[in-house]
Amino acid sequence: MKEIDQEEISRRRGIYFQSFGIYGGISGLYDYGPFGSLIKDRIVNIWKETLFREGNVAEFDGTALTHIQVLKSSGHYDRFFDYSVQCEQCGAKYRADELLEKYGIEVKLDPRWLNEKITEMGLKCERCGGKLGEVKVHKLMFPVEQGSELDPLYLRPETAQGIFINFKEYYRFFREKLPFAVIQTGRGYRNEISPRRALYRLREFNMMECESFFDPEDEMWPSEPDSTLNVRLSTRDGREIITTPMDAYRDGIIESQPIAYFIGLGSKFFRRIGIDGEKLRFRQHRKDELSHYSSDTWDAEADTSIGWVEIAGIAHRGTYDVSNHIKFSGKDLYGQRIIPKKKMIKKNKVIDYGKIRKDFRGNIEKVISAIESGNDSLNLNGTVVKLQDYYTINEEEVTVDRENFIPSVIEPSFGLDRILFSILDHNFSVRDDTGYIYLRIPSEISPYDVAVLPLMNKDDLDNRGREIFRHLLDVGLKVIYDESGTIGKRYARYDEVGVTYCVTIDYESLDKGDVTLRHRDTMKQIRINSDDIEKYVRVNPWNGRDS
Ligand code: AMP
Repeated sequence: MKEIDQEEISRRRGIYFQSFGIYGGISGLYDYGPFGSLIKDRIVNIWKETLFREGNVAEFDGTALTHIQVLKSSGHYDRFFDYSVQCEQCGAKYRADELLEKYGIEVKLDPRWLNEKITEMGLKCERCGGKLGEVKVHKLMFPVEQGSELDPLYLRPETAQGIFINFKEYYRFFREKLPFAVIQTGRGYRNEISPRRALYRLREFNMMECESFFDPEDEMWPSEPDSTLNVRLSTRDGREIITTPMDAYRDGIIESQPIAYFIGLGSKFFRRIGIDGEKLRFRQHRKDELSHYSSDTWDAEADTSIGWVEIAGIAHRGTYDVSNHIKFSGKDLYGQRIIPKKKMIKKNKVIDYGKIRKDFRGNIEKVISAIESGNDSLNLNGTVVKLQDYYTINEEEVTVDRENFIPSVIEPSFGLDRILFSILDHNFSVRDDTGYIYLRIPSEISPYDVAVLPLMNKDDLDNRGREIFRHLLDVGLKVIYDESGTIGKRYARYDEVGVTYCVTIDYESLDKGDVTLRHRDTMKQIRINSDDIEKYVRVNPWNGRDS
């Protein structure tokens, strides 16, 4: 059986390849070529469509350059790191936990423990056999200089934070009704210690994130978890269970209804885009593996030629992020819930504007804003002003029927590059007879719906081919036209990048007004009228079998 080298085919066929190749490339950075970009875009569109169909989902498109305070509040600034260990001889760097995991050791993420274990096991550099140095903290975020003594900006390590800090914007958009979700697709950046295996571990990668917001007293997604589709669950206590997300929730295997819901949604989405359902599982994080913000997380994992790969994480983030942004920004990011009417004392600040105007010419705005922000004092050019002297507190009894709460968040976060890596892994296939490779991806994510191939680029075959090409473009199909090389080579080329249909124009076509339609997987060919191509491809997709 021919070995399938995903990376080699992808480079040769323009699916993906290492960035900056002519200058030797940089590890952990990959570009998508003409076919890969189209496949990727189609996956993103299906993902967005899947979520928009929920009806209570809106999109956010934020910047990748991020304010340092956002990442201090979220905990990334202090806590987003891995432990590295470097060879003292050749300088190769490794993730300390991964070095040990290779020996089947259950790792403790503690630098002293890691150091002792590496020494105890006598581990050496995998590249040159040299001595390994001390275990060190390796920060994962990329700083970007702003210059002029300003704090650096950071490239976002996840897209989620931009959504959290704009919660109020979306709360208003959704007319103050929870739950709702905000999605974002875009790049995340992590300075990984050992980027490897092409798309598997990148330093710049594509994320599709969905932050769903709840009143913590009512953490229910409006639709029920799926009751029709079996999923494979691998629980924290080591059980492997095959059941539906609905039953898993009913039986308490998955405790949170929205997590069960998103496992069902993710499972359908993955199958739709070509992940093999038999090679998919949802694995619950062990307690010691959970991120600093999460109380429960389930990873979607795909079984591939490099082992089980995490392709998405569904994390319960609780109120962690939003409450920290409230705490550090001092701003209102609360939701409000209706409660039975009750009386309470409301304290109002009455600001003495006259006195402020008299005492602080030129700084009036600053003083008022400091009082409104709830500060006790203000430093004005070295002089500390006691703000209490400039307002009084009035108390009045009021009746209230609402109270504030901090929304909790459940986040399905999908890693697009790893998803694409797994799709390619599951779908590159070898033909039994010829040994040729073809990519069996679903038509919905094919880079092109149809390749139009005149048998030769002469005798009017090319003109007719171009006419058909133009017509198919006009009806909205994604089409590629190719007249160079033998027809066999062209079939092989489009088979390898997953184009489901080829349309060939031969001499007979010129007389009869028909074409040959060829199906990628079965290689079956049928003659159809050229006006019927769209119908075969789109309305009633031909499955490449005899009808
Ligand atoms: P996380 O926020 O770590 O749960 O990441 C969300 C998803 O992004 C993961 O499930 C992965 O699929 C993907 N991902 C995380 N780190 C990388 C990376 N370095 N390269 C490629 N994909 C990644």
